[in-house]
Amino acid sequence: MALVRDFVNTTDHETGTDDLASPADLVTYLAERGLAGASSRASGADLDAAQRLRTGLRRALELNHDGTTGALPGLAAALAEQPVALTWTDAGAALTTTATGVGGGLARIAVAAHEAAAEGIWWRLKICASDECEWAYYDHSRNRSRSWCEYGCGNKLKTRAYRARKAAARAG
Ligand SMILES: [Zn+2]
Repeated sequence: MALVRDFVNTTDHETGTDDLASPADLVTYLAERGLAGASSRASGADLDAAQRLRTGLRRALELNHDGTTGALPGLAAALAEQPVALTWTDAGAALTTTATGVGGGLARIAVAAHEAAAEGIWWRLKICASDECEWAYYDHSRNRSRSWCEYGCGNKLKTRAYRARKAAARAG
């Protein structure tokens, strides 16, 4: 779950930065999380694949935010190309990646999305409702009602709405 959230948050809407701007960035990102060896190589095609997967997951989290479901052909295509197989482990049947390196690292992020769904917590992964933020976050609230990330966006928006109401009252 955290793998998916952090991966989606490699683009920062607020600052306009992208932690996955080059193939070398992708290797660094995956290596720092133990998802690929530091000496792995990434191509432009790997970077494209990573960005397609990220865009697809973000779209899915946006739907979770709205509490809706829908067809996501981009994500479906990105998941379909993941090198994963069902295997038998000490813990039972599991989806694992058949690839090493960068491709295997991306597949493990995709598998994490599957595991979140299997654990019934997928619906708690959302995108912050603030247009300025759009940060991916995990909704811990009991009834899954939280609309904003943990960085105070809800408070910021409420304060702004309050000020706007006051200003309008003064003007009126
Ligand atoms: Zn936010």
